[in-house]
Amino acid sequence: MTTVFVPKERTPGETRVAATPETLARMGKLGLELLVERGAGEASFLPDSAYAEAGAELVEADDGYARADLVLMVGPPSAEEAARVRRGATLVSHLAPTQNLDAVVALRDNHATAFAMELVPRTTKAQSMDALSSQANIGGYKAVLLAAAALPKYFPLLMTAAGTVKPAKVVIFGVGVAGLQAIATAKRLGAVVWATDIRPEVKEQVESLGGKFIEVEPDAGQTEPSVYAKEASEDYQRRQAAAVAGHVAEADVVITTALVPGRRAPVLISEEMVRSMRPGSVIVDMAVAQGGNCALSRCGEEVVVDGVRIIGHPNLPATMPVHASQLYARNVLDVVLHLVPAGEDNEFRTVQLGDFTDEIVDSAVAVHDGKVRHALTAEALEKRGGEQCS
Ligand code: NAD
Repeated sequence: MTTVFVPKERTPGETRVAATPETLARMGKLGLELLVERGAGEASFLPDSAYAEAGAELVEADDGYARADLVLMVGPPSAEEAARVRRGATLVSHLAPTQNLDAVVALRDNHATAFAMELVPRTTKAQSMDALSSQANIGGYKAVLLAAAALPKYFPLLMTAAGTVKPAKVVIFGVGVAGLQAIATAKRLGAVVWATDIRPEVKEQVESLGGKFIEVEPDAGQTEPSVYAKEASEDYQRRQAAAVAGHVAEADVVITTALVPGRRAPVLISEEMVRSMRPGSVIVDMAVAQGGNCALSRCGEEVVVDGVRIIGHPNLPATMPVHASQLYARNVLDVVLHLVPAGEDNEFRTVQLGDFTDEIVDSAVAVHDGKVRHALTAEALEKRGGEQCS
């Protein structure tokens, strides 16, 4: 029988949990043995009693890790947590593999398997496992609410007996999942929204939400539509800075969401641009945990520069744990359903067979059988001087 363990998240500020009583009950129906660390769901308002009712045994962490074939986490795990996943067991979690090399090495050296939620491919088949999307949606929404609360102004146009209030101008960098939700949320609050992205094909999506697109001439070869952004050339960065500078200077709120998979986030808002903004304006840098899109943002801090407030919250989904956990747990459940097909005996294909003919397993399994399979992570390890173990 396969044993599933859901530990309590130990990263400071992490309130989410990888399984809810509802998703565990579904796993129970597959015949899996269910272990949950005491207090795992507390910060998401999911009491131990609800997990027990769903059929889980409440355990201490040592017991859970010692018995688990499958560990379900929000993550990314620390190196210590990664080292607790026993030989041959599988961890399903965010891994941030290129930034979290000590944890990757611990998993590799333990001959554990790591299914990295951020490496799930962006395909229709894998859509229900796409935690980057479910969590980025929450982040984009919350970023706008934080900005609106911090802004010493209204968002909407108001015509009152005491005079007319102009709507706030919101500028959004990066029109992926978070950026689209940020546009929709800022529009609902009545702001005038401008947005830009290195992928010019998102213009239509911006406009369909009522936003205006800031055009930047793309590099040659960057015109093919793609769901993944590439690193911008220096030339592009210059053209982009020129196109956005005026918008940033006029903005009441700037929200940055720009990421390049596996790389440090691009710096799009220079110190000079920050200093061009009016005092009282707000920047929310959603990319702060990946290095930041704003030159002056600091991870986990709010800094004020010439009256401009720069919010660098590294984990916005954790500020809405009820829905963040509910949606993440559904993504994880679908991963488990994929790895443990109904009706077959409950052994993991990744562990038992190393079945990398499956596109989802092939893309998301970053570590397996003493090897780092994720190319960018293997490259980062090599640069650091960590050789592969066999
Ligand atoms: P992301 O979080 O990796 O990046 C956010 C945005 O930043 C992207 O739109 C990217 O193009 C942009 N960006 C990167 N570098 C930039 C730069 N230098 N300047 C300006 N913008 C820059 O992106 P995401 O939220 O993961 O979404 C990427 C795309 O994938 C979106 O179009 C999304 O709709 C699509 N998507 C598809 C599926 C699917 O097909 N199943 C699922 C989820 C997302």
